[in-house]
Amino acid sequence: MERIAIIGAGLAGLTAAQGLRAAGRATVVFEKSRGLGGRLATRRTEFGPIDHGAPGVPESVPVAGEVWSRAEPGMRQTGLPGMSALARHVSGGLEVQTQIEVQPLVRTESGWALRDQTGTSLGVFDRVIVTAPPVQAAALTAADDALAKEIAAAEMSPLWTLLLAFADPTGLEQEVKPLQGALATAIPMLAKPGQTGFERWTVHASEAWSAANLELEKEDAAQALFDAFREQADVPAGPDYLAAHRWRYARVRTPLGKPFVATADASLIAGGDWALGALASHAVESGRAMAAHVVEAAG
Ligand SMILES: Cc1cc2nc3c(=O)[nH]c(=O)nc-3n(C[C@H](O)[C@H](O)[C@H](O)COP(=O)(O)OP(=O)(O)OC[C@H]3O[C@@H](n4cnc5c(N)ncnc54)[C@H](O)[C@@H]3O)c2cc1C
Repeated sequence: MERIAIIGAGLAGLTAAQGLRAAGRATVVFEKSRGLGGRLATRRTEFGPIDHGAPGVPESVPVAGEVWSRAEPGMRQTGLPGMSALARHVSGGLEVQTQIEVQPLVRTESGWALRDQTGTSLGVFDRVIVTAPPVQAAALTAADDALAKEIAAAEMSPLWTLLLAFADPTGLEQEVKPLQGALATAIPMLAKPGQTGFERWTVHASEAWSAANLELEKEDAAQALFDAFREQADVPAGPDYLAAHRWRYARVRTPLGKPFVATADASLIAGGDWALGALASHAVESGRAMAAHVVEAAG
């Protein structure tokens, strides 16, 4: 049986792995983080979970989520206790190894050799599906210059997100709010279906502010964004939990315009949302297409 590795346990990687599993092919998914889900991310705090990546995904994404009927179409499905739970659901039955940061792939006579961050061999694989964001995917696939160049044409924008929790209610309306200047949107966790407990918010910085302040220390970004939020939303008191998360590769600005790129022998394939667009549904579509391509190529 062919050995197939998948790099990244976000929606694209997990969808590709499930597509291959449905076709009777085993895979090993390597994920550099401790948890699954990639940008479907949830921070656990003493005040409850706060989603600091995608606040929701379209209803078309096949995850057993809660329907948030009042949200915009791009975020109508959420996870409980948080968004990362959606990824755990999609990972059922798969072999996923976490805290493994795969290093640039090396081509050998018997396939692609993978190593982790300590230099330890992860094995040699007949096929590798790479679902990291484009800058990282291009570095991983640098052994194939043409493929890496094609991947690098996709572009992503950075985004800072601010995480807040309050021990006492602020009195602010629990509605998604459009904001201005340094800020783009404020999303109250309590507005999402099934959420109870303390008041928690995620505030997205604007794309321009995020790009201009990308290298700030996390504490400084959190304070600057909270000051901007307090001014615009009239928050009565300081938060009891304050943190910021820097997404260096948050949203797709320029997609590739096709579901994946691959070498002629289909031994190396790369995709993710960045292949098709800025929504989680694009990651799913890309993951499905990559699985179908491997099945077809392997015959
Ligand atoms: C702030 C924010 C708001 C968003 N809002 C929405 C929204 O409202 N609606 C919507 O539909 N989408 C939204 N999105 C986008 C959505 O989250 C993505 O489209 C989707 O999650 C992408 O899935 P993916 O699998 O392609 O990539 P990712 O989720 O980024 O997965 C890639 C995975 O690869 C791993 N990885 C990278 N390099 C390596 C390596 N060397 N070794 C091992 N693992 C590696 C990463 O850790 C990551 O887990 C938002 C994203 C962010 C950040």
